[in-house]
Amino acid sequence: MIKLQFLILLMILLVLTACNIQDYIIGEASQGKNDEVVQVDVEPIVPEPKEPEYYSASISAIGDILIHNSVYEDAQIANDQYDFTKMFRDVKPYLENTDLTIANSESIIGGQELGLSSYPLFNSPYEIGDALKEVGVDVVNMANNHSLDGGEQAIINATNYWNDLGITYIGASPSQEASREIKTLTANNIIFSFLGYTYGTNGLQTPVGKEYLVNYIDQEKMAHDIQVAKEISDVVILNLHIGNEYEQHFNDYQNQVAQFAADQGVDLVIAHHPHVLQPVKWYEGREGNKTFVVHSLGNFLSAQDMLYTKIGAIFQIRVNKAVSYDIEGNETVTINLTNPKLLPTFVKFRNWSNYEIIPLQKATNKDLANANTVYEKIKSHMSQYVPELQFIEEQFQENVPTSAY
Ligand SMILES: [Zn+2]
Repeated sequence: MIKLQFLILLMILLVLTACNIQDYIIGEASQGKNDEVVQVDVEPIVPEPKEPEYYSASISAIGDILIHNSVYEDAQIANDQYDFTKMFRDVKPYLENTDLTIANSESIIGGQELGLSSYPLFNSPYEIGDALKEVGVDVVNMANNHSLDGGEQAIINATNYWNDLGITYIGASPSQEASREIKTLTANNIIFSFLGYTYGTNGLQTPVGKEYLVNYIDQEKMAHDIQVAKEISDVVILNLHIGNEYEQHFNDYQNQVAQFAADQGVDLVIAHHPHVLQPVKWYEGREGNKTFVVHSLGNFLSAQDMLYTKIGAIFQIRVNKAVSYDIEGNETVTINLTNPKLLPTFVKFRNWSNYEIIPLQKATNKDLANANTVYEKIKSHMSQYVPELQFIEEQFQENVPTSAY
């Protein structure tokens, strides 16, 4: 009996031992497997590049804001008060619907304290600045042939007023220190820098030692400024006051300066001075980069009464930024410009009053003889080098019922 009990005990012991051995073997095998798993876990530590990021912002630009006396007289609402906002009512939706808007302040806003004046030496009321602010203008170019019309004091007054409005001014400076700063604005994670230069100032000279007051087209200085702008921003936008007045085509010099800008790596050139529209064109820079050039944006608001000086435009373009990363985390920024668009505009007025900027498409035969033919001519003129240039028409039609409320 005892023998039997001993045998049973012995068998139980053997089974248990076998289990332990098996456990041990499995355990050892699992241990080995775990080692392999650890090794598999190590592999993802090898760094993978960060996912690329994409950003996009829209830009709009308008040409000359050139305030002749009949325009500011029309805007006068009281003895010393002016209100230009009603002149912009029809075009405001196209200016405020983009992330950044640029205008050329052709007649300097020296304010009433310096005495308002018209051609040939302009000085405009501050309130035109208020109207530009109200329609969404973010940047004004001050480098043009009228920059020195009111002397140094007008530049000081104007730059103070733009500062008060929170509008970035470029192309003219009240001090040496201010002239060294390259202005930037950020929209949707894209840093834009803005530069502005003029061919001249109607024979008026900057006072000796105050050359900083106005930026003149000087390729050496421009190349330097563009390099600095490229270091501190993603996108460089260059304003140029250049070309021959009343000519509908850009000349060789404009073409050469546009090519220079492309070679320097400028992304977008907005040009003005001819008072009429000149075509848009892509340029290829020496690095294979592409630059979009609007050769002349014409007048946006003025009392010039020749047919083509009444026609201007709102230009729009989309700026796309892609940021890609390598394994070390170094980033590469790629910029490309797409969807260039134009809304041709018309300055409507009668008897030197009731100034209004309207979409050209909306002009009737009473406003302008053969209005529709003129509109179609402007479309083919502006898109002759850029067939993909779109015209803002559907949006305008959609807008009709909205503005009728
Ligand atoms: Zn000009």
